[in-house]
Amino acid sequence: MPTKEAIKALADTFPSDRIAIAGTEDELTPAAILLPQDNNDVAKFVKLLAPFVLAGNVEFAVRGVGQQPAPGCSNIDSPGITLDLQNLTGIEIKDGLVSVGAGEHWSAAYEKLTERGLGVTGSRSALGGIGRLALANGLSFFGSREGFICDNVVNYEVVLSSGDIVNASATENPKLWKALLGGGNNFGIITRFDLRTFEQGPFWGGALFYFPPSFPSQVQAYCDKLHIPYASKETHIMISQGYTDAFAALGGHFCMNQAYYTREVEKLAVLEPFVSVQPQIEAMNSLRMMTLEDAAKEQAAQSSDGVRCAYMNTTVKADVTTLLAAAEIFNDSFQPLKELEGMTSAFTLQAYPVSLLEKCNNSLGISADDGPLMSILLLNRWKNKDDDELVIGTFKKALERIDEDAASRGTAVPYKYMNYVYNFQDPIGSYGIDNHQELLKISREYDPEGLFQEGVPGGFKLGKASAIE
Ligand SMILES: Cc1cc2nc3c(=O)[nH]c(=O)nc-3n(C[C@H](O)[C@H](O)[C@H](O)COP(=O)(O)OP(=O)(O)OC[C@H]3O[C@@H](n4cnc5c(N)ncnc54)[C@H](O)[C@@H]3O)c2cc1C
Repeated sequence: MPTKEAIKALADTFPSDRIAIAGTEDELTPAAILLPQDNNDVAKFVKLLAPFVLAGNVEFAVRGVGQQPAPGCSNIDSPGITLDLQNLTGIEIKDGLVSVGAGEHWSAAYEKLTERGLGVTGSRSALGGIGRLALANGLSFFGSREGFICDNVVNYEVVLSSGDIVNASATENPKLWKALLGGGNNFGIITRFDLRTFEQGPFWGGALFYFPPSFPSQVQAYCDKLHIPYASKETHIMISQGYTDAFAALGGHFCMNQAYYTREVEKLAVLEPFVSVQPQIEAMNSLRMMTLEDAAKEQAAQSSDGVRCAYMNTTVKADVTTLLAAAEIFNDSFQPLKELEGMTSAFTLQAYPVSLLEKCNNSLGISADDGPLMSILLLNRWKNKDDDELVIGTFKKALERIDEDAASRGTAVPYKYMNYVYNFQDPIGSYGIDNHQELLKISREYDPEGLFQEGVPGGFKLGKASAIE
């Protein structure tokens, strides 16, 4: 059996502590998991596996930390093989950059940077992995001031389909660098990310919980703020409404603001509408001065493990009427699902302010001319697999209705954020035809036989050139 031959080739080459044959706690069980120790191991893996992959005999998945919830994105079922980068660790801070191994968590980088009074654009969750965030846009606490996470990557160390290890930056392989700024796992396996750092002290912020009647005023305040010329670049705000059975005693419906001012100043007027909303659940208000490390730990603690989860998203103009209509569609949709065991359903708004879009030098197909924009994330968690179809089908329909409604108001935006998409969405297609064609061209240049297109099915592919030509 061809997969067995591919696994035998790996087992003959790598020491036994770097390869696990079958068996994972995850829902998908690969035939083998390879744990490379360094970039040379990754190169060896690619060279060994390429003939099997190109002959159509085996497929593989690339896994950073495995935080992205879309099924099959960073793991694969047998007879596939998973390349798990968890042992590619190491953090070095030098010359205004932080170099981070592809298997690190952001928390490890934050710990070292905080000690030196520095910051970096990374996940707001300490548990997040580096890979996807630095390859697909990436929202951090500092987006308004510093741009998307990918726009802060100055160099990627990449293992190409040939097995060669190259750098991709503004000066070395610049076309590949630009493609990776949004292109996901379509061009190679990144073994190290070099990101720009900046001076960063403690900052003020946290989360607070309140009730649905106040939500429309929060949406209004959020949009007003985004449309102010020269709006502060130091704020980071997310507003959510939804339902969780954890709040059943209070009726289950809740709203949450996560609001930050990214300098060491307390309770600035610019955050006032978002932090002073009343009534709120005072006992759950976590607003305080915090370090980057503390802020990311707090957000990590708010996520839940061991439950079923689906993220899906769309983008619209930051227009109050559109957003309130979208919130209404979401509310209608989740009512019949409230009885499902372990159901938590959130409608989360995260802005792409003009100051963030001005920093775009990537493949995403959005720019300051489009802004300000709003990302609408539908985030769902539930307990039982039997409910998968109902939950996903319900919110897929809700998202279609939201897009149709926005289109009818002239506020629809095609862009879909790759980190928050579900499998029925096509993020790369949403970057626009020119970007899509350019990405296909660069893929043909750096991966002429299509190893990462045909051999790595998960993680959102470029699609067939014929579909857009
Ligand atoms: C609790 C939680 C918090 C989150 N917080 C944020 C946030 O603050 N901001 C935000 O923008 N998003 C956030 N996300 C969404 C985002 O998808 C994940 O944070 C991100 O995917 C984590 O990266 P990872 O390396 O663990 O990805 P993985 O799940 O390991 O991989 C995701 C995809 O990236 C590819 N990939 C990963 N590493 C590499 C690599 N080195 N080379 C090539 N391809 C690679 C994989 O093949 C896969 O297709 C969050 C998600 C969750 C569940």
